[in-house]
Parts: sequence; structure tokens; C-alpha cells
Amino acid sequence: MTGLEVLVRDAEVDAVKPPSAASQAAPAADDIDDIPLYAPRRKIYPQSVHGFFRRIKWAALFLTLGVYYLLPFARWDRGPNAPHQAVLIDFPNRRFYFFPIEIWPQEIYYLTGLLIIAALVLFLMNAVAGRLWCGYLCPQTVWTDLFFAIERWVEGDRREHMQRDARKWTAQTWARKGLKHFLWLMVAWWTGGAWVLYFADAPTLVKDLATGQAPFIAYAWIGILTFTTYALAGHMREQVCLYMCPWPRIQAALTDEYALNVTYRYDRGEPRCSVKKAEQLRSAGAPAGDCVDCLQCVHVCPTGIDIRQGPNLGCIQCGLCIDACDNVMAKLSRPTRLIAFDTDLNIKARMEGKQPFYRLIRMRTVLYAAVIVLVGGIMVFTLATRDSEGISVIHDRNPMYVRMSDGALRNAYTIRIVNKQLKHRDFILSVDGVPSSLIDFIGLPPRADGRQLIDVGPDQTREVRVTVTDYATTAPAPSTSILFSLIDVATGEVAQMRDHFFGP
Ligand code: SF4
Ligand code: SF4
Repeated sequence: MTGLEVLVRDAEVDAVKPPSAASQAAPAADDIDDIPLYAPRRKIYPQSVHGFFRRIKWAALFLTLGVYYLLPFARWDRGPNAPHQAVLIDFPNRRFYFFPIEIWPQEIYYLTGLLIIAALVLFLMNAVAGRLWCGYLCPQTVWTDLFFAIERWVEGDRREHMQRDARKWTAQTWARKGLKHFLWLMVAWWTGGAWVLYFADAPTLVKDLATGQAPFIAYAWIGILTFTTYALAGHMREQVCLYMCPWPRIQAALTDEYALNVTYRYDRGEPRCSVKKAEQLRSAGAPAGDCVDCLQCVHVCPTGIDIRQGPNLGCIQCGLCIDACDNVMAKLSRPTRLIAFDTDLNIKARMEGKQPFYRLIRMRTVLYAAVIVLVGGIMVFTLATRDSEGISVIHDRNPMYVRMSDGALRNAYTIRIVNKQLKHRDFILSVDGVPSSLIDFIGLPPRADGRQLIDVGPDQTREVRVTVTDYATTAPAPSTSILFSLIDVATGEVAQMRDHFFGP
């Protein structure tokens, strides 16, 4: 049997029967409440396919999963006083490490910047070529693709799998199903395992997990993520894209007529008919479309839709139907890209005998790109120039001030000093704004040389309590702005913070 005959037989097997007159009748008003909100689920058996977009999908899968599974084991030498894991979310010490960058809790605005950039990149992708994120990079797509590959490896490709499912299940069928679910669970388990490795030293945690010495929370998270990965990628699959994910709805509102989408070029494909009929029509000088209705584009679709029916919320723009159709066209010696990344505007232009046009540089793409560059630039600049020391001041509220027996006024403050460098540092604290004032440290013994140095450990913070006493004889203002200065003794670097000195 030739490849073409297989295609034609596939089409015959899967040809959808036209709806009967009864089923086409409009529902009576009383029946409307009985119409289900969701279509009954149809099991999808996506067929394997080879081609350009499939290769891109494999590359994206290996790259994203490779990064996810292996990144926790990447090392980065930060010296003796910091962890050596390149990417680490260190909850106990409240730090996030990303290669040379260390983010403190008070710098969480960098996360806001990253989220803004991520959202804008998504919008830009959408403006250029639709749901590229969904088709190639979304975790749901990537893991489902991996689970499909395992399923095909164990249960065979579409035809074999469908036939086996339709027959009475034998011991071999059960064995194959068991093996598939076991492999799915192994992938899901390793997915959960990789996740927890981002929160502790990975090699140590792997050892602790294997010997049962890891904290309970690590096992709990592995269990939760094993379950969610297995359920979402193994069982719910396209249902997540069709019903659970909000992005298709948002994306539809953000797109415009110039965005490239996976499009069936009906100007070329219609009227569709069988290969034989098309040959007869062409030899008779009658029009015949290039689509031979083989349904290969439907068979490979991971969400089970027919792109020939037009834009569809279920289309994740993976491009696999393009590969499938290109293979058919190649076998028929017809030009490829009957399905392609294109626009309806171009189809209409071709039908009117005009040249298709692609407008990638438009107001919205330029705007998205500009904001990405701007936010990214601000983040890089602030990261490169941020201080390695910091000071925060909290004024005592109760009492706001104390009148001393000699008439002086005293205010008390709690001062937190931040040392972001990975070495010990000595600081001096001074205050300006209240003439004739003295600063005293509570609980810190004065040093012999008279200088009150505050020693802060590497990559640590230190809290000190101080009082500022105003010995001036003139009546003080109810509130005076004062400036605390923190000076690194070795380098002279300064961090400052304003507060107030209160009087009666
Ligand atoms: S669009 Fe291509 S793959 Fe789909 S049915 Fe027509 S010829 Fe077959
Ligand atoms: S219609 Fe084509 S591009 Fe859309 S999800 Fe199906 S295979 Fe992917």
C-alpha cells in the first residue's frame, strides 16, 4: 500500500458523518437548560509527525526540560560565606541567588520587573505570531508532549493505539498500559523532585531524600507535584488548554489582524476533494483545491481540532498540522504550506490577485519591544549600581521623646544595618540635623579608641538600638528632620536614611 493510499484510507476511516436533519433542528426553548456547558470529551490519539515545526518542538522540549531538571546542580563560586548553588531560593536566610546576582527580600521589586518583562514578552510573541508560547514553551505543552512521546513509544502510534483500545483488552494491553502509567509517574516524580532542589543545596538534598533524612515538606511537595504533573500532562492534557487556561481568552483580545496564526489557506485548498476526483476535475478544466481531505492535519493535532474550519480557541499554534500537510503535499507533488503561519488578510489579498504582505513592525510590536528594553535596562542599571550596604530606621513610638533630668531631650531608634558583601565590614553611624546632639548605642560597649564601630557579618543584617540626645538650651521644634549616615570604615561607602527628632 502506498503512502497516498494510507492517507486516503485514513480519511475514509475518520470521515465525519454529516449531521442528520433531527440533530440539526434548533433546540426548543425548554431544552436550552439541558444543553451541557462542556462538550463531551473525545479521546485524542495524536499521530507522530516529522517536519520543521516538530524539530523546533523537540528542540524546545529538550532545552526547557534540560534546564529545569539540571539547573539545580549548576554551581557558582561565591566565596566561603555563601551557598555555591547557581540558582537557589534560600527561604531560611531570605535570599534568592541567580548566578552572580543575590536578591534580598527588600529588593523584591526586581521580581515585579521580571514579571512585567515576562508579560510583555508574551504580548510581543502574540503580536508577532499568535500563541507561540502555548505551542512551544508552556509547561503544560512541554510535559504533555513528553507524555505523548512516552505513550506512543509504549502503546504504538495513533492507528495501532486506537485499534488496541477498541479490541478486547488482553494481558498485553494491560501490561502496556501499566508500563505507560509507571513511566508517566516516574517523569512526574522526577519533575516534583527537581522542583524542591531549587530550595536547598541540590546534591545534599538528593542524598537526604534518598536516605529518608530530608524534611517532611520536601516529600510533601514532591508528592503534590508528582500528582499534578501526572494528572495535568497524562490525563487532562488538551482540557487544560481548552477549559482551564485563561490565556487563550486574553490572547484573543490582544491580537490583531496582522498577527501570524496557523492558517488553512482555503483560497488554495478549496474546493477540497479526493486525489482521484481532483485529477478528474483538473483534467476537465474545472477548479479543484489542493486539500485532499486526508485529515492528516487533524490526526496530528494535540488538541484534536480541524484547523480548516478557521481560527479556533483550541489551537495552540504548535505547527504540527503544517508539517503533516507539507508531507502530504510533498507526496502529491503539490507546493507545500497549504497550512502555514499566515493571516486572513493575506488569503483575501491572494484571492483578489494582490501580493500578500507581512507587517511585523507595527505600533504594538514596537511599543512592547520598547517597554521590554526600558524595564530591562532599568533593572540592569539598578542591579549594577545598587549599594552593597543599607540602613533602615524605626523611631520609638512610645514614648516619642523623653525629657532628661538635666533638661535634655532624648529620642530612641531601632536601626537595621545591611551588609550585602560576602565579608565582615565595620561601620560608623552618625546623625546630622540636631545641633549639640549625641548618639549613644544601647548594649554596645564603647571601644578603647572612642570610636563606636558596628561590625556586621558577611551577607548579614544587624539591628542596633540607639538614642539621640539633644543638649541644646534653646526650645526645640516639635519635629526636626535628621539624617542618619552609615559609613563603611574601610571603603568610605555611605548609606543614608532620614527620620525625625521629636520634642514637646
Ligand atoms: S489540509 Fe492538508 S493535511 Fe489537512 S486534510 Fe487537507 S490535505 Fe490533508
Ligand atoms: S490546529 Fe495545528 S497548530 Fe493548532 S493545535 Fe492543532 S496541530 Fe497545532
